[in-house]
Amino acid sequence: MSQYASWRVGAVAPLIVYPKNLGEFINVIKEAKERKIKFYLSGNGSNCLFVKLSETIIISTKKLNRIKFLGEGRIVVESGASLNLVLNTSLKKGFVGFEFSTGIPGTIGGALITNAGANGGTISESLESVFFLKNNKEIEVQKNALTFGYRHSSIRRKDIVTKAKFKLTVGDTDESRRNIKKYIKHRNGTQPVKYPSAGSVFMNMDNAKAGKIIEDLGLKGLSIGGAKVSELHANYIINTGNAKIEDIKGLIEEIQEIAKTKEGILLSTEVKIINE
Ligand SMILES: Cc1cc2nc3c(=O)[nH]c(=O)nc-3n(C[C@H](O)[C@H](O)[C@H](O)COP(=O)(O)OP(=O)(O)OC[C@H]3O[C@@H](n4cnc5c(N)ncnc54)[C@H](O)[C@@H]3O)c2cc1C
Repeated sequence: MSQYASWRVGAVAPLIVYPKNLGEFINVIKEAKERKIKFYLSGNGSNCLFVKLSETIIISTKKLNRIKFLGEGRIVVESGASLNLVLNTSLKKGFVGFEFSTGIPGTIGGALITNAGANGGTISESLESVFFLKNNKEIEVQKNALTFGYRHSSIRRKDIVTKAKFKLTVGDTDESRRNIKKYIKHRNGTQPVKYPSAGSVFMNMDNAKAGKIIEDLGLKGLSIGGAKVSELHANYIINTGNAKIEDIKGLIEEIQEIAKTKEGILLSTEVKIINE
């Protein structure tokens, strides 16, 4: 998974399957279930540390990236479409409402799991419904039957997202593009975009940002092997070039231990740690 995940580090998977369309995706999942093969769904791998996968195959949604415009700003997007593709395609058609996603390197499926957000918005805001795979068939669930909060949604690990429907609005796309430039500039100045990472590692607390907690503990620059707490943004652990899985995992655990013993703070991870 070092070739796949944004951290450029990861366990060896027995197999990575890239279904080319939704029909293939549904068949692959059906077959894996029938043959009792453990599988893990992966979008862009930008929120995951793959520690161990000896018996688990990866089913990638990367090729499920079709976007259908239904009229009146409604779009149905397959779960593997990148947020960036959705943003650019909708702007070209004159619709605004997806600018929040600027700079988040994820797919629709991955973003729905954590209610990904940035730049003052989240994916759930323009969401109308999510399509799930249940008993080898797609079912559509309206947004009001789901819950979304800060880096949280009621979509569980066993739920399989096939598509999602959004309602965008006709708007000033020139203004959107200007805002996008501002968001990118801000991100480039405040986050270590040149190094492989998985974005923010820890969840913010109700009353404090995880990055501020880590910075106040004096942990900026702390490193294990090739994994390092970013000097620019303390909630990022960067791969400085040759980090191993254990380096990143070890650094996450060390930060948690220091926060607990020095401040009594329990930092939980936003990134998913896949250890079978
Ligand atoms: C440089 C950088 C900056 C980032 N900035 C932000 C930010 O500003 N805001 C933010 O919220 N996040 C940010 N992230 C984190 C990450 O990009 C988001 O969480 C993103 O939405 C994850 O999408 P993904 O496709 O990469 O998911 P993956 O990492 O592939 O998967 C994440 C989870 O979703 C599950 N999943 C994926 N697809 C499906 C599906 N179809 N059905 C069911 N489950 C599925 C996976 O099994 C896994 O549990 C950043 C990451 C990086 C590397």
